[in-house]
Amino acid sequence: MHLAIVSLGAFGHINPTLSLTTELVNAGHRVTYFTTEDFRKVIEPTGAKFVPMKSWMAENDKHNESKEEKKDGQEDNVAAVVPFLFLNEAGAFIEDVLNVLREDRPDAILHDFAGIAGTMAADILGIPNVMLYTSYPSNGSYSVAASFEGIPADHPLRIAADQIADGYVEKYGCRKMTVKEIFDGQGDPNLVMMQKRLVPNYETFDDSFVFTGVQIGKRSTFGSWQAPDNGKPLLYSSLGTAFNNWPEYYPILFDAVRDLDINVFSALGAIDPESLTDVPANVELGKMVPQLDILSQASVFITHAGMGGTGESIYYGVPMIAIPQMDEQAITARQIERNGLGFALLDKEAITSEMLREKIQILLNDSSYKETVNEFSADMKALGGAKASVNALISFLENTSSK
Ligand code: UDP
Repeated sequence: MHLAIVSLGAFGHINPTLSLTTELVNAGHRVTYFTTEDFRKVIEPTGAKFVPMKSWMAENDKHNESKEEKKDGQEDNVAAVVPFLFLNEAGAFIEDVLNVLREDRPDAILHDFAGIAGTMAADILGIPNVMLYTSYPSNGSYSVAASFEGIPADHPLRIAADQIADGYVEKYGCRKMTVKEIFDGQGDPNLVMMQKRLVPNYETFDDSFVFTGVQIGKRSTFGSWQAPDNGKPLLYSSLGTAFNNWPEYYPILFDAVRDLDINVFSALGAIDPESLTDVPANVELGKMVPQLDILSQASVFITHAGMGGTGESIYYGVPMIAIPQMDEQAITARQIERNGLGFALLDKEAITSEMLREKIQILLNDSSYKETVNEFSADMKALGGAKASVNALISFLENTSSK
C-alpha cells in the first residue's frame, strides 16, 4: 500500500511517527512523508520518501522565545495562539501536498491534530483519514478541544483562525477546521500512541480507537550517550522541545542536586549553556540529547510531562517528577501522581530546591514507585507499539477496500 504522512515540523509530533514509518516500510509498504526541511535527516533513514514543505511557523512562531525577543504584540496565550499557528501552517503545506498526492494517490493519509493539511487533503482527495493521537484522544466524554475553547470568540486570533478556516472551506470544499474539529476531530480509524490506562475515561472509547502505546524505535538524532561509570544513579531532566525556555528552573535544579551522590544529565532545549552559572560538578548539560539512550540508564526523570517523554519514561521503567508547562501536560502530571508513577509539581512558580531534592530522594529510595512504573512498562510493551499500529492500520484499510 501507499501511505502519506503529513506532520508539523516539530520533534514532539514527528518522533512518535518514526518507528511507525520504519515498520510500514519494513512490511513492504510505500510511505510519502510531508514535513519541513529540518527533518529530512530524521525521515530519510526510515525509508520513506521525504517531501519538504514550506513553513509559515518557522518565520512567524515566536512562542518559545523570551519576552524581549517576541515581536511587538506577540500573543502569549497558548490556547489562542496554537490553532492560529496550525491553520497557517496548513496553508503553507496544502498546495504542495495536493500536487504530489494527485500524481501518486495514497491509500490513506495519516496525521495528528497538528497536521491539519492531512485532514484537508484526505477530504479533498476522498481518501481515508487516519488520525494519529500522539497524546490524549477525544470523544463525547473527554474533550482535548475544551482547554482551547475558553478563548472568547472576539479574541483577534480566534477571529483570524475562523477566517482562515472559512477560506479553506471556500477554496477547497474541505470540512471547516474549527477549534473543535482540530482538537476533537476523529479519523476513520484512530491510532492512539499511548497507554489506555493513562487516558481519563478510557473505557468510553469505541473500537475505532486502537491503543498501541509509545512507539519506541531506533533514532538517528543526537548521537548516543553513556552515563559516567561510577555506579551512581542517574537523574535526567528535560522540559521537552516546545515550551522549554524557562531559565529560572536551572538554579533551582542545580541547588537541589549539588549535594546528592548522583549523576545528573540535563537537556536544555532553547537555553544557552553559557548563560548558566554555578553548575555543580555532578551535572552534565546538553542542548538536544538522545533521550531514549539516557532514559534507558536513568533512575529518575524530571519532565514537563509531554506525552512522548512520559510514555518513554514508562517504557524504560523510570519514575517521574512532572513539572508541566501547559494544560495538557498538567493532566498528564496529575495522572502520573494519581497512578503512583511519581510526583506532580503543578505550580512551577512555587518550586524550590528543597522540594525538588525531597522528591528526588523519595523516588530514589522508595521502591514502590519503581515497581509501579515497571508494571505500567510491561502493560505498555504488551500494547505492541509501532508493529501493532501497522497491523491495525493495514487491516482497517484491507477491510475497507474489500467492502
Ligand atoms: N527529545 C529528545 N531529545 C531532547 C528533548 C526531547 O530526543 O533533548 C524527544 C523526546 O524523546 C520525545 C520528544 O523529543 O520523543 C518530545 O516529545 P514530548 O511529547 O515529550 O514533548 P514536547 O517536546 O512535544 O513538548
